[in-house]
Amino acid sequence: MTTGIRFCRIFGFEVRIDLSWFVVFLLVLWTFAQSEFPRRVPGLEPVEYVIMAWAGAVLFFGSVFLHEVAHSAVARARGIPVDGITLFVFGGLARIRANAETPRDEFLITIVGPFSSAVLGLFFLGLAQLGRELGATPALTGVADYLALLNFILAVFNLIPGFPLDGGRLFRSAVWHFSKDIRRATRWAAYSGRGFGLLMVGVGILNLFGGYLVSGMWLVFIGWFLIQAAESGYRQLVLRRILEGVQVREAMTRSPETVRPGLTLRDVVDDYFLKRRYNAFPVEDGDGKTLGVITLSQVKGVEREKWPTTTVAATMMPVSDAVTVRAEDSLAEVLSKLESVGVGRALVMDHDHLEGVITRADIAGWLDRYQQLH
Ligand SMILES: [Zn+2]
Repeated sequence: MTTGIRFCRIFGFEVRIDLSWFVVFLLVLWTFAQSEFPRRVPGLEPVEYVIMAWAGAVLFFGSVFLHEVAHSAVARARGIPVDGITLFVFGGLARIRANAETPRDEFLITIVGPFSSAVLGLFFLGLAQLGRELGATPALTGVADYLALLNFILAVFNLIPGFPLDGGRLFRSAVWHFSKDIRRATRWAAYSGRGFGLLMVGVGILNLFGGYLVSGMWLVFIGWFLIQAAESGYRQLVLRRILEGVQVREAMTRSPETVRPGLTLRDVVDDYFLKRRYNAFPVEDGDGKTLGVITLSQVKGVEREKWPTTTVAATMMPVSDAVTVRAEDSLAEVLSKLESVGVGRALVMDHDHLEGVITRADIAGWLDRYQQLH
């Protein structure tokens, strides 16, 4: 998932913020200032509640972020590449590029999340206690108390054994460990995610009938999200598992047609783009050395009047900037590479020699054929 605005880099992780997150931030800020803090710490000035709400919201999302940093750091330590962390409507998401290879790794990567939330809870609890002993203002201790509570809730909520929550992943790693079958483990974890989602929706509806509108709606909303996420998470995992077992050479276009760097854009449009069914061509010189790749959208980026005088060499993406893979890489690796860079194709190289081209469409087509045969 590469949506969202690039925000900063912390601890070597690229942090992105999805637009949906800003809405939630404002909602949280508003709830804190209007209802939570006035209810918890009565008798303060309105401006104090606003300051408390800002401090509370920033520290709360800071806590969510640290929870994801914990997952990411352990994943990286276990040798699994991490692209970064995205903050979105439901909190945080560590963009971990591959599945854990063993149940033990999955267990470790997962457990540190709720664990760090619990530690943060204890930290804020201690801070509040210390504040009270030192005679700090109720505004300060109120914020610390509330953050302790929120972090404990975060730890407990994440331990609900429904995939894709942390608890669901722990459950999956346990089933995986005992059954030695990750597919079965994932299926069970998805069932339990759907089960817990349905349970939440049920309790939420009961709440609605009992007159608890806000909590009822929240439960229905989160339960529904859990059901959706369990299903799509399961599908994605199954697909990824399939793609992990397939090499690039099985889906790539072999020895693709190439163009020369000296051609003008006018020629390449007339003789290649309009006559063939491809949206991109690798560029090779007379010795068969691959120089780069020229795409239709790059050509469209040049004004039409300049096509007769502009060369492919001046327009193409050099091979050093293109995504390159090897024929023995897995389709899952290629797909995550393409997703993280946000392009549609990769050159399949054997050292300096071009063996083929693989596109997202090739992978989708391969999957389609696979599913028709199974
Ligand atoms: Zn987590």
